[in-house]
This record gives sequence, C-alpha cells and structure tokens, in this order.
Amino acid sequence: MLGFIESSHELLHKRGYRLTPQRYLIIYVLEEAQGHLSIEEIVECVQQRNPCVSQSTVYRTLELLREVGLVRENHFLGEAATYEAVDGNAHEHLVCRGCHTVLHFDPALPANLREQLEQQYAYRALKLDLVAVGYCDACWKSSSAT
Ligand SMILES: [Zn+2]
Ligand SMILES: [Zn+2]
Repeated sequence: MLGFIESSHELLHKRGYRLTPQRYLIIYVLEEAQGHLSIEEIVECVQQRNPCVSQSTVYRTLELLREVGLVRENHFLGEAATYEAVDGNAHEHLVCRGCHTVLHFDPALPANLREQLEQQYAYRALKLDLVAVGYCDACWKSSSAT
C-alpha cells in the first residue's frame, strides 16, 4: 500500500504534478478498496475522510490520475464506469453477469497467450487487457435450479 502511494508520488512528480492532499486521498481510497469503485462510492469514501473535497474535485482528480496511468477506468457489462488503482500491470478481469462480481484472475494464465501472440504476429511488449464474462458458480447454480 505504501509502495503504491510512494510510486504514485514519484510518477506525479515526474510529470510535473504534486501529490496534493486531495490526490493522496483519492489514491489512498482506491488502493484501500482493492476493487472497482463507482464514482459515487469514491466521492462517499473521500468525503467521509474529508468533507471539504467536492465531487467536481474528485472528478477532476480521477481524470488526472487516469491520464498519468495511476488509475484505470473500466466499463463492465455496459455499466457506469468503475475505477481502480493501477498497481502492477496485470489486470485480467473475470466478470459475473448475474451478481456483477468482478475478480482479477491469475495473470500467469494468459501469459502463454501473450507469448503466442508475440510469436505469431511478431508484436512486442504486448499487454493484455482481458475481460472474461460469464456466470459465477453460485449464479449458475441458482439460475439452473429455477
Ligand atoms: Zn480490476
Ligand atoms: Zn455471480
């Protein structure tokens, strides 16, 4: 956790930005959540800790953090955007259509696929951005029970 905040600080600094208290707070909230938060959830968490931070500040800050690559915006199942801290490169998502749970699956699994793509198409330094959509076990069982 400290590691991510520290590297965020460095990255912002390199791009000529400061790690202001608002930016710190949003990075902290996203990192602590370890998941996918909607903009409303982020605003709520941020304002719980500091009621002075306005919604538009959260929007603007998220936009900046996204630009520098610290925050990732996802659109799963055509829903409203969710945000998460970009901690490391692997971001392979497993999404349930039933309960809308989002998991990060083992990044070692598609490593093979990346190598194969690099070989077959002679592309280098590929980064996969996979979203696998289906039904989790619980949703599958409850839907086939009815
Ligand atoms: Zn994610
Ligand atoms: Zn499910």
